[in-house]
Amino acid sequence: TYIIAEPCVDVLDKACIEECPVDCIYEGNRMLYIHPDECVDCGACEPVCPVEAIFYEDDVPEQWKDYTGANYEFFEDL
Ligand code: SF4
Repeated sequence: TYIIAEPCVDVLDKACIEECPVDCIYEGNRMLYIHPDECVDCGACEPVCPVEAIFYEDDVPEQWKDYTGANYEFFEDL
C-alpha cells in the first residue's frame, strides 16, 4: 500500500483522490488516508501530490514512519 505522511496535515489538497482508480483515499480530520486493503499499488497518486506527502509503504522516510501505523489504525477505527 501507499502511505500519506505529515506533509498532508492541514493541507488535504485532494489531487490524489482524483487520480486514484479505485477510490481508496479517504478524508480524515486533518489529512487524507489510503485504505491499505483497497490500494492496488498503482502509484498514480504519488506524483500529483503538491506537497510530496505520499510514499510507497517501504519508502516512507524515517521521520514519518509513525504515519504508516496511523494509516492502518485510521481504518481499524471505522
Ligand atoms: Fe490509489 Fe494507486 Fe495511490 Fe493506491 S497507489 S492510493 S490505488 S492511486
